Amino acid sequence: MKYISTRGDDARKHFCEILLEGLAPDGGLYLPERYPRVDAATLAQWRTLPYADLAFEILSLYIDDIPAGDLRELCRKTYTAEVFGSHEIVPLKKLEDGLFLEALSNGPTLAFKDMAMQLLGNLFEYELARRGEQLNILGATSGDTGSAAEYAMRGKKGVRVFMTSPHGRMSPFQQAQMFSLRDPNIHNLAIEGVFDDCQDIVKAVSNDLDFKRKYRIGTVNSINWARLLAQVVYYFAGYFQATIPDGAGPSAHPSPFPAGEGVRKVSFAVPSGNFGNICAGHVARMMGLPIARLVLATNENDVLEEFFRTGVYRVRSSADTHETSSPSMDISKASNFERFVYDLLGRDGTRVRQLFGEQLARCGQFDLSGDPAFRQAAARYGFVSGKSTHADRVATIRDTWQRFAIMIDTHTADGLRVGRQHLAPGTPMIVLETALPIKFAATIVEALGREPERPARFAGIERLPKHVTVLPVDVQAVKGFIASHCG
Ligand SMILES: *Cc1c(COP(=O)(O)O)cnc(C)c1O
Repeated sequence: MKYISTRGDDARKHFCEILLEGLAPDGGLYLPERYPRVDAATLAQWRTLPYADLAFEILSLYIDDIPAGDLRELCRKTYTAEVFGSHEIVPLKKLEDGLFLEALSNGPTLAFKDMAMQLLGNLFEYELARRGEQLNILGATSGDTGSAAEYAMRGKKGVRVFMTSPHGRMSPFQQAQMFSLRDPNIHNLAIEGVFDDCQDIVKAVSNDLDFKRKYRIGTVNSINWARLLAQVVYYFAGYFQATIPDGAGPSAHPSPFPAGEGVRKVSFAVPSGNFGNICAGHVARMMGLPIARLVLATNENDVLEEFFRTGVYRVRSSADTHETSSPSMDISKASNFERFVYDLLGRDGTRVRQLFGEQLARCGQFDLSGDPAFRQAAARYGFVSGKSTHADRVATIRDTWQRFAIMIDTHTADGLRVGRQHLAPGTPMIVLETALPIKFAATIVEALGREPERPARFAGIERLPKHVTVLPVDVQAVKGFIASHCG
């Protein structure tokens, strides 16, 4: 399998070449030149595989420059019950007939980003060792991404992490998660500003090409294809669990599997921000996984909901980006969205370059409402969308607790709220649970009048010593810190 850019550059690179890269040289995002198709017989074979082996089967369709034995080892090392808390890795919880939660947030940082980041850590270590190279990861975080990256890269050979975050603005739990790490290859930099300042610093450092080369600066942001690919796996795992045959499993259904494999469809509801999670669902669907609907849920930051409703993609300014109680979905633009638009427009790289490279830069929006491709987005690609507000998520958290004694976090609540609006008889709806409630305690207290449950391994982490360096909003200060810690 080779990879091409959404903006038309068809350099045709292999997986490991793009693994450590961010954007393609023409500013686009990498995608495989085609989506491998999976037929009903293959689905039937995959149904009974352990998660790590399912991951290997899917990844090996996209990766031809890591020997199969090594790739299988990397998957088995990553997806263990020890790290993800259960043998199923992503267990399904039934709420009611035809409505499930898929638990993606039982990894080390209790958010779904661990699903991909844990694999990325092992892939990076493997590939850097093979090349005899080192990498210094520089990132900006307001919470989930940074901690997932640090827990994935801690102790990995050849990798250092420099993670900027806005000083004093993350939740106490999130700060404790990141700052309590003591691994010598992890560096927390608390910047005396807001998240945008952190992002600007990362951009400025990355734009200094001499510095970038000299200190081998890389990133792990959500546009990385390997992250997206790792996420494809749990769509398959969710489908298998929701369609278990003969009444033994969560959804009793008379149709005899595996003979009927692929006949019965499922839908997914996905709390969305940068469009990385749901884009993996799109890839799974393009591979032939029987997905009826991909339900995109946003919070008050509704740039994506607006697109799927109207055909207009309108990037927001920082002033127009709301701070909400589902903060990991607070985005002004959706960094992975270009991948879907590329497929939607029949993989026309020239047009994507005009829209994302030129038109967005010039006027901050584009309009596909008159385009036949947009009108087919639901019918051909399964996409529908909806929006959830603070009041909706509080009500959904309360309702789910009262009726099922299940506590969900604010992001999952957005997904469940919108997913319920798209229920169709006979088609199971799988809501992706993207974080555990403990990460967003204040809203849980507001909704339920009680503190969220805390997994035992996080007892008292707020009291651990904090390893963090406070720096001003100053590119030179960050560069200086990096230079003096790259021995
Ligand atoms: C990152 C994140 C999301 C949004 O996922 P995208 O891939 O950016 O769409 C949703 N919920 C939680 C808890 C997250 O951490």
